[in-house]
Amino acid sequence: MKYSKSLIPTLREDPADAECVSHKLMLRAGLIRQVTRGSYDYLPLGLRVIRKVEKIVREEMDAAGCQEVLLPIVIPAELWQESGRWERYGKELLRVKDRSNRDFCIGPTHEEVITDLVRREIKSYRDLPKNLYQINTKYRDEVRPRFGLMRGREFIMKDGYSFHTSVEDLDRHYEVMKNAYLKIFQRCGLDARAVEADTGSIGGYSSHELVVLADTGESIIATCGKCDYTASAEIAASARPSAKKSKASSTVKEVHTPSLKTVEEVASYLKVEPSQMIKTLIYLTDKGLIVALIAGNLELNEVKLTNATGAAFLTMADEAAVKKLTGAEVGFAGPVSLPAEVQGIGKVRIIADISIEGISNAVTGANKTDYHLTGVCDARDFKAEKYIDLSSVKKGDVCPKCGKGKLDIVRGIEVGQVFKLGTKYSEALKAVFLDENGKEKPMIMGTYGIGIGRTAAAAIEQNNDENGIIWPLPLAPFHVELISVGEDSKVSETAEKIYAELMKNGIEVLFDDRAGRPGVKFADADLIGIPYQAIIGKKAIEQGKIEFKIRKTGERKMVGAKDIIDLINKELH
Ligand code: ATP
Ligand code: MG
Repeated sequence: MKYSKSLIPTLREDPADAECVSHKLMLRAGLIRQVTRGSYDYLPLGLRVIRKVEKIVREEMDAAGCQEVLLPIVIPAELWQESGRWERYGKELLRVKDRSNRDFCIGPTHEEVITDLVRREIKSYRDLPKNLYQINTKYRDEVRPRFGLMRGREFIMKDGYSFHTSVEDLDRHYEVMKNAYLKIFQRCGLDARAVEADTGSIGGYSSHELVVLADTGESIIATCGKCDYTASAEIAASARPSAKKSKASSTVKEVHTPSLKTVEEVASYLKVEPSQMIKTLIYLTDKGLIVALIAGNLELNEVKLTNATGAAFLTMADEAAVKKLTGAEVGFAGPVSLPAEVQGIGKVRIIADISIEGISNAVTGANKTDYHLTGVCDARDFKAEKYIDLSSVKKGDVCPKCGKGKLDIVRGIEVGQVFKLGTKYSEALKAVFLDENGKEKPMIMGTYGIGIGRTAAAAIEQNNDENGIIWPLPLAPFHVELISVGEDSKVSETAEKIYAELMKNGIEVLFDDRAGRPGVKFADADLIGIPYQAIIGKKAIEQGKIEFKIRKTGERKMVGAKDIIDLINKELH
């Protein structure tokens, strides 16, 4: 492709509203432009990268025996009502009406649509298993779209769904898919790993996220230094010693703690360890008020709490709700003598971390402004509905798998996710098959997604320098950028010839044929980040050579056109 004919609007300066490297560089290198918050135009270079990711995905999915389909983006509400997600999915679901006032949504994910297709077309165990996938536009009305293609509202996803006759068959296929996903990211030139994950709003019973390690990532991951344990911090556990149990104290005492609200303030004032304090956090949910208890030295993990409550949503209670429940200002809540119900809000449920089980002589809020209680004991002074792991893992915690290694906490970008769904959707939508004995059974499902644009963005996060992008060859919009220097007719003739020769040999070339200052062309070439640059200058062509620059290392050498072809072919295959 000739630069002069393309649309590559590079920018010299960092756009003010871009928060992370890939977002900045995608805008600066002219790959994308924002239309509105979270929606982008893909310009020629950007689209080429997207197509490369898609090609790798298709090749690996086809190799794993999956079949490509294409499903509608505008989905009738009835399907989502059948699964129950029309009510549950919340504000991320963009709902629209057609001219006859019928409800539709713009698909954020396609479990319902695919299950509907399969229930109509597949009836027998003989036709299973099947894995159907598509690469299509998704829409999620994200609260905070940001980081460019990383978290858009309209974005391209590969989503696949598998249907099985048994859990064992799903388990087998799940491993195939996880490995295919790892291969996809490896082929994209990314360092990705499979991380045990939460099953979130999609539901299901087992899941892994495919995560590319990057400091700018939004996913937080716990990894063990000694074994292969890697889990999303949202669900990661740690091997924790049970709470230190001392003898129950004789009485609960109220102490005056004026304006002391934080765990640290109260602990140091009363001269107790933070682990002897019961931190009390209050949440509003669709299932009433949740009072979560955890030792003062630990952080509450809201994903674990959400899973424990079975709530569809969970938000921190505001001051008014806290006051209604405790009668005190924020900072003085505790589990002792709480009402079972708050009028106008709902039932009160106490859920405690295991650090609270059997705790005695503890300090906690007195449900009275400026007062705390000491000598508080679990079971005697309050009782939680359950005691489960609710804490966030910390760097240095003991690995729950090997029990020896220390956990490290790292950040990453979730580029894909695989789920074992089970029968959640097949039961709701009655996707059944007849087994060998003619018995009707719900199909067992898996679901598998990859963010196509997010993968491209993650590749930039992992591969860039102060001059711009450094594309891994498999994702690069072109393999070589040919740059003619100076407006000499011999130079442009030679450049045209080499351009034709490279293309004839299947090398993808961007030919910067623009008139203009060499400095500008070189800067654009580094910014766009095509892995190899072939520079046609007057001096070099006199020796029948091309100056060849490797973008990643900056290394330069004089080579012939044939050498370039050989080199790229070797790297690509
Ligand atoms: P996240 O936790 O980042 O919001 P998710 O877990 O909701 O993502 P999935 O439903 O698992 O996302 O979707 C499959 C893949 O689609 C994700 O792994 C991610 O790569 C991509 N993806 C999800 N949301 C977005 C988005 N808003 N913009 C771009 N890609 C996205
Ligand atoms: Mg996910």
